[in-house]
Amino acid sequence: MNLSSLSLFPGLNKKKQQFAVIGLGRFGRAACQALHQAGQEVLGTDIDEKRVTEVVNNHWAAHALQLDSTDPLALKEAGIYEFDTVIIAIGNYLQESIITTLNVKEAGVAKVVAKASSEVHGKLLKRVGADQVVFPENEAGYALARTLTKPSILDHFELDPQHSIVEIVVPDEFHNKSIGELQLRSRYGLNVLAICRDQKFNINPSPDLNLQKGSVMVVIGETKAIDELPL
Ligand code: ATP
Repeated sequence: MNLSSLSLFPGLNKKKQQFAVIGLGRFGRAACQALHQAGQEVLGTDIDEKRVTEVVNNHWAAHALQLDSTDPLALKEAGIYEFDTVIIAIGNYLQESIITTLNVKEAGVAKVVAKASSEVHGKLLKRVGADQVVFPENEAGYALARTLTKPSILDHFELDPQHSIVEIVVPDEFHNKSIGELQLRSRYGLNVLAICRDQKFNINPSPDLNLQKGSVMVVIGETKAIDELPL
């Protein structure tokens, strides 16, 4: 099972959106590739012509062009201000990252996601208007630690920094107990969205349903509470 296959969030599968990625380092290139492969409209930009050429040659985005994102006019001429979402993937150049974020927010771009390389960088990005700040190195570290220490978490979908949906193997302690008996809602504040047994889904299962070892459950709630499950 894959969480995305449940179509829990139809909004995520809406019509094609337009994304501009500014900065084509490893993070920016990966963002371009993933969005492009997902069928979204992507424009990649970098001040370095070589990085732009690499993206064009490898077809990692529909379009790519060279520009200096600290120049508001260059961004305007490239049509960056018309994009639904702008991803600022300039982690190692603090000044350029802050000025670019300021430029796109001042010009009215609705959603600006910016990569931070430190806590202070993240705070500055928020101050100049970034709607979402990501710390990919920290997040990758947490994800790795989770897969190493909690192998029964099969999939993890972060809704916001506090809440997640996870797909987990039913813990041994839960075997032959009903959802109601386990009091997942009152004890942990968690809700069971689905149970999957022998490839068959039971969406929104009844509290009387007995959980079985080897089944998979999809749970929504606070990430902190999920971490307290006996996995
Ligand atoms: P890594 O490649 O190690 O993952 P990263 O994704 O954080 O790191 P950076 O080293 O921060 O990448 O570089 C991001 C890209 O931003 C570089 O390709 C760089 O040329 C580009 N860049 C830097 N300044 C500007 C600018 N003013 N305008 C456009 N692009 C810029």
